[in-house]
Amino acid sequence: MEWCGSVKRDPTGERVLVAAAAFLLVSLFNPLAPVAIAQADERPAGAFSTQLQFDQEAAWTYLVSQVEGGPRVPGTLGHALTEELIQEVLQQAGWETYSQNFTPTSGEAADIPLANIIGKRISQSPTGSSEIILAAHYDTRPWADRDSQGGSIHPPPATPIPGANDGASGVAVLLALAQALEGRNLTTNLTFLFIDGEDYGPDIRSMFYGSRYYVDHMTKDEIRRTSAMILLDMVGDSSLQIHREPGSNAQLTDEVFAEARAIGVETFIDDVGQGILDDHVYFSRVGIPAIDLIDFDYPDPSTNYWHTLEDDLDHVAAASLGDVGRVVESYLLTATLVEPTDEVPRPSPGPYGDDTVGDLQRLEALKAIAWVSVGGICALAVGLWLHQRRRGTPWRITESAAHPPLVTPTVARTKKT
Ligand SMILES: [Zn+2]
Repeated sequence: MEWCGSVKRDPTGERVLVAAAAFLLVSLFNPLAPVAIAQADERPAGAFSTQLQFDQEAAWTYLVSQVEGGPRVPGTLGHALTEELIQEVLQQAGWETYSQNFTPTSGEAADIPLANIIGKRISQSPTGSSEIILAAHYDTRPWADRDSQGGSIHPPPATPIPGANDGASGVAVLLALAQALEGRNLTTNLTFLFIDGEDYGPDIRSMFYGSRYYVDHMTKDEIRRTSAMILLDMVGDSSLQIHREPGSNAQLTDEVFAEARAIGVETFIDDVGQGILDDHVYFSRVGIPAIDLIDFDYPDPSTNYWHTLEDDLDHVAAASLGDVGRVVESYLLTATLVEPTDEVPRPSPGPYGDDTVGDLQRLEALKAIAWVSVGGICALAVGLWLHQRRRGTPWRITESAAHPPLVTPTVARTKKT
């Protein structure tokens, strides 16, 4: 590279050379960065609103199945049937399932075997190490202790609630959601947690058994990797109105309500409702961002079927399940979808990125520009060198122009004579 080495004494030429070399290197060795894929956190809410697959009729079927199987009081046939239903639907949708069996040692449910049912879906994405937990309790209250007509007696005669809303609705949404996500390529692992012993009662010492047990048995690593926990409870009210639950994580609440707005779900009311002590609290306590999607005014602030015999099929609606299911599905897609499943399969990435043909054409064009530039620089340098050689003056053009030689050959000769 001697032809260029002679230029290095000239500052201007040096800069040109460095720029040309940099351009050449960039052109030849880093022609095109791969096309950046929009990061999930840069996506607007509702980014996949046209691709939601949540089937509210399927959710409704799952709700009815639970109610018709009887109250899901631990130890009863209805409880066992719902356990079977959950396992079956999840497995058919390709989820790995298992039961977390435990027997409380205190409270009303002491010595009664309980079981959280867990569905796992491992991300196929190479970055998929974080976890989102979606949860709902599947047990129902053994006593209708809020019922004014005869269910208020505790203990026996027991009058368990039908639990169409308080129990069946959240489970129904999760099961239909598991199906809606079939084939989706998400960046996070999903855990669907069906909690047992949430509503055993009569007071808080005998409630939330399943969530307490689950959180107590999470490893530190599992807790650290869990980026969100979304609880669905009482989401089937036929006059659904879900408000922000003030004890829920604010940012996650913002994100979920933004999805509701973006996809036009008006049953999510963007104001602050009442605080609810629910399963999500135990996740919040260990630092997991957790929210409770719940409509506690069932059906309205003046009447409440909560823990009454009227929590039945007459007071819940498929459309409500559909609203909640679509909002949660939309949240999951916006936050974690790698690519839509109905997108035309792309050819495998070439050596310069995904757009192989276009990239190669651009690479060739850049190479041509680089060679023309380098050729021009060298021709200029050679021309300048020849020109200066003919004139017999020093090479440094800038120095010669700014500071005429102090001693010219003519002056020297004069002094000698
Ligand atoms: Zn309840």
